[in-house]
Amino acid sequence: MGELSQIDPVISRLIRAELARERGVIDMVASENIAPLGVLEAQGSILSNKYADGYPGDRLFDGCDVVDEIETLAIDRAKDLFGAEHANVQPYSGANANAAVLFALANPGDTILGFDFAHGGHPSQHDATTFAGRFYTAVAYGVRREDGLIDFEQVEMLARAHRPKVIFAGGSCYPRRIDFGRFRQIADEVGAFLVADLAHIAGLVAAGIHPDPVPFAHVCTMTMHKTLGGARGGMILCLSELADQIDRAVFPGDQGGPLPHVIAAKAVTLLLAAGPEYRERMERTVRGAALIGGMLHRAADETHMPVLTGGTDVHLFALDTSPRKATVQQALTWLHHLGIMGDSVTIAYDPLAPPDCSGLRLGTALLATRGFQDEDFRELGEILISRLSDPRGSTLATLRERTMALCNRFPIYREFEV
Ligand SMILES: *Cc1c(COP(=O)(O)O)cnc(C)c1O
Repeated sequence: MGELSQIDPVISRLIRAELARERGVIDMVASENIAPLGVLEAQGSILSNKYADGYPGDRLFDGCDVVDEIETLAIDRAKDLFGAEHANVQPYSGANANAAVLFALANPGDTILGFDFAHGGHPSQHDATTFAGRFYTAVAYGVRREDGLIDFEQVEMLARAHRPKVIFAGGSCYPRRIDFGRFRQIADEVGAFLVADLAHIAGLVAAGIHPDPVPFAHVCTMTMHKTLGGARGGMILCLSELADQIDRAVFPGDQGGPLPHVIAAKAVTLLLAAGPEYRERMERTVRGAALIGGMLHRAADETHMPVLTGGTDVHLFALDTSPRKATVQQALTWLHHLGIMGDSVTIAYDPLAPPDCSGLRLGTALLATRGFQDEDFRELGEILISRLSDPRGSTLATLRERTMALCNRFPIYREFEV
């Protein structure tokens, strides 16, 4: 970062401060990950200079031969990795991808059915604050009170009553496998398109350790930077018959010129996800979440924070802080004192409203990328249980030492200097 430190020492210092912060915490924010150096290199490359509105072989600008090759590679790798008929690698983010899909498949005012953000879904599927809720008639389904699982009877009932054009499946805080086949049956019955929002689970799907949505969904949207662990941005997969519609909705519908540097970084991400070490890492991610989630579930009498659905099948789980008479912000502060990061979510039937609500979401994707093995996840599980059971106890200093020892065993970006 020699040049930057000359031109703008303040930003240069802040980037180094952020590196120090990332190095010094156990980050369990379920949407975060550590991008490999090669991905960062592509994303920070001179490709950033190029304008390339359009698609490979059909651009509004001259001089696109190289970026055509790069985007074609990214598309081919995406299709191969996920077994999809068509891929669009241009969406700037996961939310952009969802907006483009709605733009492609429904007209303003049409009804759409999304997974309620307050139950583990995502705002970009229905919420009034987003494109989805603002321009469409959005209806949302949730999870059952008794077991926290998607309420398929409700999905069916809402689909029959409202006849949506689009049904979304997939969320940001759903700890169990999603039955995409069941969603497809419902979509077929009412003539809706099924959109699988894989923002969180894309990495698990790529590794073949989550039931495959591609055979069932007309369209899949995803992010590349959550479990997939790479470039910062979104992607869409779809059936060939929807390819033109989707492509036109992304550009010029929803976005301007693509980001060739990010598309190159997406190509690198997809190459790595097809590699031999990737599946092992995804398996370790899910095993880590199951280990810690299971430990916390068994310790619920001590922590007074039950694990939603009693555990997890994926890379994240959520605790209900309300029986503890604590808000999630308090729980996050208790963890923060140790150097552990999580994040807050509203949970279904939450007695409190955000930001001070009752869902503590914790994930293992980033830690698995750092190299955490089963025994490290177990040690972290013990630390979490001690801390959440007795936040005012005298164990803080010892627990902090144990946390830092764990953190220091797995350094990140050793190539960079702080
Ligand atoms: C994170 C997420 C998104 C949005 O992705 P961004 O890249 O942050 O825009 C969309 N849907 C779901 C389910 C998500 O978890």
